[in-house]
Amino acid sequence: MKRTVSEQLFAKAKTYFPGGVNSPVRAFKSVGGTPIFIERGNGAQVHDADGNIYIDYCCSWGPLILGHNNARVRNSIIDAVQLGTSFGAPTRKENELAELILGFNKYIQKIRFTSSGTEAVMSGIRLARGYTGRVKILKFEGCYHGHSDSLLVKAGSGLVTFGETSSAGIPESFVKETIVVPLNNKEAIIQAFAQFKDQIACVIIEPIPANNGLLLQTKEFLQFLREQCTANGTLLFFDEVISGFRVCFCGAAGLYNIQPDIITYGKIIGGGLPVGAYGASNEIMASISPDGPVYQAGTLSGNPVAMSAGIAQLTECLKPNFYADLETKTNYMVNKIKDAFAHETPFFTFYTIGSIFWIAFSTTPITTAEAIDADSMKHFRILHAELINRGIYIGPSGYEVGFISEAHTYPQLDETVTAFVEALHVVKANMQQPA
Ligand SMILES: *Cc1c(COP(=O)(O)O)cnc(C)c1O
Repeated sequence: MKRTVSEQLFAKAKTYFPGGVNSPVRAFKSVGGTPIFIERGNGAQVHDADGNIYIDYCCSWGPLILGHNNARVRNSIIDAVQLGTSFGAPTRKENELAELILGFNKYIQKIRFTSSGTEAVMSGIRLARGYTGRVKILKFEGCYHGHSDSLLVKAGSGLVTFGETSSAGIPESFVKETIVVPLNNKEAIIQAFAQFKDQIACVIIEPIPANNGLLLQTKEFLQFLREQCTANGTLLFFDEVISGFRVCFCGAAGLYNIQPDIITYGKIIGGGLPVGAYGASNEIMASISPDGPVYQAGTLSGNPVAMSAGIAQLTECLKPNFYADLETKTNYMVNKIKDAFAHETPFFTFYTIGSIFWIAFSTTPITTAEAIDADSMKHFRILHAELINRGIYIGPSGYEVGFISEAHTYPQLDETVTAFVEALHVVKANMQQPA
């Protein structure tokens, strides 16, 4: 496989952008090598600048649940563009997307559109603080909520800790308001509420944590959070930017049937264009300006082109069996790969839910960030390189999950199985070599 053009483009890009990219993980730092520059995508496939073709399981990190260049989404974008791209005034498209989301979702009554997931979460946090009059927030190690200041924090040492910044440029005073606890740990929650009684505005969680491996939580743990939040006057905040419309139309809230107080969406609701959203009950949303005192705005919020893409995509997601079919495909692919190693000593584990999958080079169950062995990422590096060479594109980090779209066909899944099995054999052979 030739990469000459990608290499040239990346060399140029490095003179323009830090690390040559506009979002860090794209730089291939954790897997090594040159990022692949994509020219175009169609269905499950992407074509790179050197003319190589890949079956894509990154799917733009989740938004493309219908695959690339879906005709309905594309046509809705073209139709919208022909009427103008942005007005800074309300359009009927905002109503239509809101109707689609709220009409099928009993968990929120009002919504506000933003232009990214980060912005949605940042605004939701402000809403939680404004509504409760409390300052502190509680997050979980291993959950990603975008890159706003109060959420770029990681756990210190100890069960319940104030965050330590995971980025330069964030004042210590900010992160002192963010409490960080491990996932799947009731004791930590009880301790946090005891220690910070009446101070915690919200508990924010990815109900299906999928940004740092796939750290599936039990319904029981999520229910426990609901009960603890209710008992303490704290809002439960489900960040569903990745899980919303991915596992079912009503996201993780619907899947587990748990009523959070605030929900954020993003990724899929934009049909591949930049959109985020936060929603809550009428009562809580009444705090948002211009109705209430919590300020939040956006020049391009509710942009009609992005709304149109979202409407087209979500309309497709409502088709009968849409989510069941995606899950069937995921299980088909993953089970075939697992079956190929059924008679060998286990050395990897697949985690899946709906159309999300994650492979870990470990055989002990992983439900927390700290259970992921950083050293095992050297195996992922090999897997990634071997898959790329066989025309399979997955996100360039072992902490990232893969996505299966409606566009992935069974022959493409079979091709992927073959490539995966070969690649895993290379990984295994490498593990067995003396260091
Ligand atoms: C992707 C993601 C975000 C951030 O969204 P952006 O659109 O990248 O700003 C926030 N929370 C979760 C759970 C996400 O998956």
